[in-house]
Amino acid sequence: MRKLFILGFLIFLPTLVFAKIQTTTWSPDTCECELEYEWDDSIPQETRTHTISKIVKTCPVHSGNKEKVYSDVLKENQDKNKAIGIIMEREPSIKAEDISFSYGSDQMLRLFVKGLDSIKKSSAETDIKTRLKIDKVIVE
Ligand SMILES: [Zn+2]
Repeated sequence: MRKLFILGFLIFLPTLVFAKIQTTTWSPDTCECELEYEWDDSIPQETRTHTISKIVKTCPVHSGNKEKVYSDVLKENQDKNKAIGIIMEREPSIKAEDISFSYGSDQMLRLFVKGLDSIKKSSAETDIKTRLKIDKVIVE
């Protein structure tokens, strides 16, 4: 009887374990910041939210409170990813490895694209500015 009770307890144990908060350290490829954020692994990936928990290191460009640093860094990183996506969507012959980028201390996103003439670069730049509603981007 006692053994059965213990067995029953062990079977129900996993349901007693609640949401587990995970922490991840993120070093974006757009600057030298290092940020630690928390997320809940019981929530599906698509609906999960990431909460900044700690700034490990800031680069010379980003400052302010942790929420501001996180949202600025995240936006720059996402803008860069979207800009690369727009270039590849416009020119299917261009592969990810043909595109490199840099973010200067002036927070200007420079995208270097191999295999595009200057007219196509300029129209890609205009397209990125319009679609991402940003003006600090140069396609060269
Ligand atoms: Zn930074």
